[in-house]
Amino acid sequence: MKNLLKCAFISFFCLNLSAQTDQKIYDIIDAISADRIKSDVQTLADFGTRHTFSDTISQTRGIGAARRWIKKEFETISKNCNNCLIVFYQKDFVTKDPKKRVPHDGWIVNVVAIQKGTKYPNRYIIMSGDIDTRASDVMDFTIDAPGANDNGSGMAGAIEAARVLSKYKFESSIIYVGLSGEEQGLFGGAGLAAYAKEKGWDVIGVFNNDMIGNIEGVDGVIDNRAFRIFSEPVPPTETDKEREMRRFYGGEVDGISRQLARYVHKTTQTYMPEMNPMMVYRLDRFGRGGHHRPFNDLGFAGIRIMEAHENYTQQHQDIRLENGIKYGDTFEHVNFPYAAKLTAVNAINMASLASSPPPPKTVSIGGIVEASAKLKWDKAEGAKGYKIYWRDTTSPTWDHSRYVGDINEFTLNGIVIDNSYFGVASVGKDGYESVVVFPNSILRN
Ligand SMILES: [Zn+2]
Repeated sequence: MKNLLKCAFISFFCLNLSAQTDQKIYDIIDAISADRIKSDVQTLADFGTRHTFSDTISQTRGIGAARRWIKKEFETISKNCNNCLIVFYQKDFVTKDPKKRVPHDGWIVNVVAIQKGTKYPNRYIIMSGDIDTRASDVMDFTIDAPGANDNGSGMAGAIEAARVLSKYKFESSIIYVGLSGEEQGLFGGAGLAAYAKEKGWDVIGVFNNDMIGNIEGVDGVIDNRAFRIFSEPVPPTETDKEREMRRFYGGEVDGISRQLARYVHKTTQTYMPEMNPMMVYRLDRFGRGGHHRPFNDLGFAGIRIMEAHENYTQQHQDIRLENGIKYGDTFEHVNFPYAAKLTAVNAINMASLASSPPPPKTVSIGGIVEASAKLKWDKAEGAKGYKIYWRDTTSPTWDHSRYVGDINEFTLNGIVIDNSYFGVASVGKDGYESVVVFPNSILRN
């Protein structure tokens, strides 16, 4: 009540207050159910194998049965929210090519559920899990490959996020998707990324969830608080000119995916202080791949969210007992409260991004041989104001900020441009912020 009164009298103060935390976000965290994720991982594992080229006819085994079940789940969720989801298969055909891990011709079928935004329907934040699994031999499409953690956990997380977020309305669109063909060569992600490009989607970012349920690492560490956020430094699509600019103006660790990673890191620290988000400054694990990459390949922001401690005896393994070690990606190894936490990380970040206005398209910076840094930006539709962020060049996070209201240029007096990096975010009426935009243009006087 006190705050409401303050809001009535001093609106900018209210904005700053509401920018701190929002009860809706806590409600979303509380609504994510470890039990429902557990039940869904069990269902997914019970399809025996979900290998991309496994049986598509059976009602009980193989990827066909699995994707029909996922589609049905999304449709049920949609029924419970007045048909708020558009659910469909997005698919591409691949022909036999053993060199490309394609044992026979077949369809790569993704299951997509779109919750349309009320104000910016063409802006999309995407959460993906994977439908498909593999055992020791990536070409073996008949042997058991339950894929409880890899990636039943991420798939169940996407379904659970849909259940919870579909109870709300958001300004931007949210997509929950099960991708296929991950283990064969990131086929499903490539298919959906191309589809997004073709449709002209304005993609805010992709959260690739791949293995979000293991807390006992092969290194012996047991940790149910830490998780990793992988992001590439700069987009592979950048031009030679952009690369050359970077050499003189900085930005080696400030690409769009990195800003998305910082956003997730910050939101998690704000709303889930019990968690320990670890930003990892690389595209993915050493020499290994994931489904955010095909989106990055087309210039979209995308990150991988996953457990901090992997167990290699429980991924990509035939189920067996060997030297006293139980190999295989089975249900018993998944920690569901932890998978629920990581699902909540996705849900609150999607809710925040889908509640925020678009970021400024162009941010210019100047202040060479001066005592102050100057920033100028394009106003963004729907923004109530803007926040300038800066940090030491060696810091991974945006440590300093200043809300400057509804203007489009500002001088940070006494902050020397050489010793910090800067960025600008849009702030919406409820205090939700866009991803920070690193300057992409130079101000010259
Ligand atoms: Zn895998």
